[in-house]
Amino acid sequence: MTNLLLEVNGLKKYFPIKGSVLGRKVGDVKAVDDVSFSVREGEILGLVGESGCGKSTTGKSILRLSEPTAGEVKFQDQDITSLNAEDMRKLRRNMQIIFQDPYASLNPRHTVEKIIGEPLLIHGMTSAGERKERVQELLEVVGLSAYHASRYPHQFSGGQRQRIGIARALANNPKLIICDEPVSALDVSVQAQILNLMDELRDKFNLTYIFIAHDLSVVKHICDRVGVMYLGRMAEMADKDDLYSNPKHPYTQALLSAVPDPDPDYQRERIILKGDVPSPSDPPTGCAFHTRCPYAMAVCSELRPEFQKVYNNHYVACHLYDDAVQS
Ligand code: SF4
Repeated sequence: MTNLLLEVNGLKKYFPIKGSVLGRKVGDVKAVDDVSFSVREGEILGLVGESGCGKSTTGKSILRLSEPTAGEVKFQDQDITSLNAEDMRKLRRNMQIIFQDPYASLNPRHTVEKIIGEPLLIHGMTSAGERKERVQELLEVVGLSAYHASRYPHQFSGGQRQRIGIARALANNPKLIICDEPVSALDVSVQAQILNLMDELRDKFNLTYIFIAHDLSVVKHICDRVGVMYLGRMAEMADKDDLYSNPKHPYTQALLSAVPDPDPDYQRERIILKGDVPSPSDPPTGCAFHTRCPYAMAVCSELRPEFQKVYNNHYVACHLYDDAVQS
């Protein structure tokens, strides 16, 4: 039985909306609204959903790069939401993040050696010689060469820059890496190389990833389990194969219908959702998806569906699977 590495319970992240005249709070943008899940050691959990669904904010709130409004985040059984800044800084060597845009996340005025060496210095590797050696080792681990250490970010391609971002995340031997759309900004051919590299590194260093993406086709090959988010809430979560072959939530079904199938003889019927994603500052009552759902019933606009188990490892928040509503 694999150990749990991370437990997220009732996580909320609200951003206040200020009134224009007196600057008083007039409401909240509910970016993450009561999300719970856990991640096992060595697992890759995908978090998927359209832009604005709260997946990136969930990742940043777990690391407290964006302070949660409420909820509990336990890393190796320790509640980290109450840690002070110094204890959190120490813990961050175990919890790293890779960002979407590898160019924006690398300081253009620093050499690669300085960029990758910085987290080593922050966490106590004060010897310049040791840092240099470690940077060279990390560059080789991610498929670059020791001589790249003296170069600047603009001298690399997008894929190479993301490799530098990965090397920086690996510097202090973390246990968990939150990958925030790490391949979205890359060409399709390069995406596959980076995904393969991340998969190899997971095996080599027993890493655990939370892999955030807006596209179910990207997470299909790399993740063990996938959670689908909609308007700040978890709509469905299941083992990857189960989710792709037997999606339960109407939103997941719509997202999956847009994923091209490799079999040219297989024509999946495309589900086009009506309307746009509602604003998280004024989410619909009941099920947040009811304004776009082809199966919406009267109860859907009144009662928020519980996120509950339908079988084995498969969870869904939808009244279609709620025995109390269906009986
Ligand atoms: Fe659709 Fe109702 Fe299920 Fe929401 S609860 S996804 S509106 S059927």
